[in-house]
Amino acid sequence: MNVEDFRKNGKEMIDYICDYVGGVGQRRVTPAVEPGYLRPLLPTTAPLKPESWSDIMADIEEKIMPGVTHWQHPRFHAYFPSGNSFPSILGDMLSDAIGCIGFSWAASPACTELETIVLDWLGQAIGLPKEFLAFSEGSKGGGVIQGSASECVLVCMLSARAQAIKKLKQQHPFVEEGVLLSKLMAYCSKEAHSCVEKAAMICFVKLRILEPDNNCSLRGATLRQAMEEDVAMGQIPFFVSTTLGTTSCCSFDNLSEIGPVCSDLDVWMHVDSAYAGNAFICEEFKPLMRGIEHASSFNTNPNKWLLTNFDCSTMWVRDRFKLTQALVVDPLYLQHNYSAQSIDYRHWGVPLSRRFRALKLWFVLRSYGIDGLQRYIRNHCKLAKRFEQLVLKDSRFEVANDVKVSF
Ligand code: PLP
Repeated sequence: MNVEDFRKNGKEMIDYICDYVGGVGQRRVTPAVEPGYLRPLLPTTAPLKPESWSDIMADIEEKIMPGVTHWQHPRFHAYFPSGNSFPSILGDMLSDAIGCIGFSWAASPACTELETIVLDWLGQAIGLPKEFLAFSEGSKGGGVIQGSASECVLVCMLSARAQAIKKLKQQHPFVEEGVLLSKLMAYCSKEAHSCVEKAAMICFVKLRILEPDNNCSLRGATLRQAMEEDVAMGQIPFFVSTTLGTTSCCSFDNLSEIGPVCSDLDVWMHVDSAYAGNAFICEEFKPLMRGIEHASSFNTNPNKWLLTNFDCSTMWVRDRFKLTQALVVDPLYLQHNYSAQSIDYRHWGVPLSRRFRALKLWFVLRSYGIDGLQRYIRNHCKLAKRFEQLVLKDSRFEVANDVKVSF
């Protein structure tokens, strides 16, 4: 496919996408297929000779769409929302076309710099403490785009683990790291997402899952008691993953109580707000973040509820040097002359290669403006309240939680 073919096929693809998006409501939400439906419809080996664009496109409606679950369908209510919008799709198209791999500043300066700037924009709009913003006076913090909330929790736990081991090594220089590791204890509520359990598995640390209160909120006293019990048993608390907007009922842990407990024991407090965090761009929802000043790190997914398509999981840390200490490897072939003055995002996460994801978030923030995004969030929350009223009127159902944002 040359440039002229691309111009023609690309326009056709845009037409196809417009028809798809415009007509998605007429399709079945979930496909009527059984496992293995696709195998008999496709050849068992890749084609040896090039195939025509029209043949490939014909297979989309005939073979692929029958197996697609339409997450953008107006009647799709499963799992969690999948953010999307035309500006986001266009931003991602451009990112795909540029095709840079922005693992360091030198690898593509705009890719790194736009990410830092856009994360400061969003962090300010959310109302994060200024220590989390890269460009605020004297700040050691900053933001990064990760592939998923699960990755955010994992890298924060890895960093907290590295900090804890470093501190313990200073206190007990002759004790094996493996022995120190076996003492480390992470905490979360029973309502936390399963990604915390997965992160603990990968980090090879113990995780204590705590009972929340009757409002499904983890409280400071519960955490303090658990930590004191564990310390008495020779364990070392090092990380707490709190949630603002839990997956099953959108409850909010009590950060104002949990924060001081973490400070007392020098424990990293992470705040996972994968879904609800997007609502904090509205003034009226900011009080749900009360206690955020105690956090070491925070994540929210614009790809869930801020009109940005997957993947775009935004994460901020109070101290980027603590974050990267756990993740730096520095082979000669990746080094460059500007590392002292710039951010190299390869040190902020697991993968080396990184897409230019900031473009789509930039397109979204500029196309809607904070005003437009606030209107979008408020409309969802208003609809949720309306739905709550309908449910309350129907004796067959009950409302299981306090509807604070959109569910
Ligand atoms: N944390 C919370 C609170 C969630 O609700 C979810 C997904 O529903 C996740 C983490 C996992 O998100 P991701 O798919 O981005 O890893």
